[in-house]
Amino acid sequence: MSVAVRFAPSPTGLLHVGNVRLALVNWLFARKAGGNVLLRLDDTDEERSKPEYAEGIERDLTWLGLTWDRFARESDRYGRYDEVAAALKASGRLYPCYETPEELNLKRASLVSQGRPPIYDRAALRLTDADRARLESEGRTPHWRFKLEHKPVEWTDLVRGPVHFEGAALSDPVLIREDGRPLYTLTSVVDDADLAITHVIRGEDHVANTAVQIQIFEAVGGVVPVFAHLPLLTDATGQGLSKRLGSLSVASLREEEGIEPMALASLLAKLGTSDAIEPRLTLDELVAEFDIAKVSRATPKFDPEELLRLNARILHLLPFERVAGELAALGLDDADAAFWEAVRPNLSRVAEARDWWAVTHAPVAPAADDPAFLAEAAALLPEEPWDLSTWGTWTGAVKARTGRKGKDLFLPLRRALTGRDHGPELKNLLPLIGRTRAQKRLAGETA
Ligand code: GLU
Repeated sequence: MSVAVRFAPSPTGLLHVGNVRLALVNWLFARKAGGNVLLRLDDTDEERSKPEYAEGIERDLTWLGLTWDRFARESDRYGRYDEVAAALKASGRLYPCYETPEELNLKRASLVSQGRPPIYDRAALRLTDADRARLESEGRTPHWRFKLEHKPVEWTDLVRGPVHFEGAALSDPVLIREDGRPLYTLTSVVDDADLAITHVIRGEDHVANTAVQIQIFEAVGGVVPVFAHLPLLTDATGQGLSKRLGSLSVASLREEEGIEPMALASLLAKLGTSDAIEPRLTLDELVAEFDIAKVSRATPKFDPEELLRLNARILHLLPFERVAGELAALGLDDADAAFWEAVRPNLSRVAEARDWWAVTHAPVAPAADDPAFLAEAAALLPEEPWDLSTWGTWTGAVKARTGRKGKDLFLPLRRALTGRDHGPELKNLLPLIGRTRAQKRLAGETA
């Protein structure tokens, strides 16, 4: 049996770290097993689904390198859902209900006030043909519920282990709305069955859905997949991420926070697992290390600061070829490997390279507060060509001539050459600054 997974976002908003973690875990699981990945857009909520969100999902997944082998859109499959619904109606598993939302709220409130679970009472099953005709003549159109079997539902979850629900403890779910539209609880099962999904990996907010959906798989004659429900990410204080979703969207991490795809992937692949979080430069490494058995049931905490620290560690390792496009997008078309290697140890985000490009390639007003010393140093600047040994040769000569060492030697030179107290190693920067600029800056000129 070949493994087939799906990632099934609803295009009703931007992907955030929580959704994309599930996409990543599905992808790693499939790639590890040599299986395939389906991207399915759950877009039956036509009021809230938007093409720009669908495009955003594809853009975010592509940016992370999470490729898909198959693609489906639920709104293309209404005919198929109608067919399945008709068969379930014919077999008596889907039954019409006429309660209004207000009536259902009253029923629920009354049960809760009696200390009973708010399970639908199946009143609609007791309606006669005459009752239904009367309700419809009053202008009511039915919604349709799935009649659960009152028997245990059990599965072995790849994360939670053995799970047990009693069918009698669940409400018969509404599968078809009053306007005839099928709901996710049904459409997801029909798709998973038709597209031969073998493993459903999703958030633990779907555990109760799974109990219901297993019965729907059985009712439609589908093969019940293996399930894995991952605990949802929380913030550092243990709160759900829902309030901060805007700032934790993949688009904002990429476009506003300057996060590298492999930083996000390195973090999300390991968060909530028994593996340490380490920078990884390729998804292949994450595939090699992935094992769903390492996913813990404890709540994983997502910390944006940890992501930024990992981003910095990734940048310190990334070769020039991997960032050339990003540098060009920042306007640094002439940046080369020597520049990148000089500045990357000082970056947390690629965009910060602009500051160092300005230091090496644009006029800098030097902090030349030790002019006599700087003049002596300038006189000792070696002739070009310069390379990585120039700094050592030059400062050796300056030290011998002036007797200065340590901070007294290096800080005035750094300030004059870069206009700052801190930064990348001057051994690397000096050849990029070049002799003409260096000489002027040492003389206190803006150059
Ligand atoms: N569209 C559903 C969601 O985003 C999919 C859940 C599932 O994986 O079945 O929650």
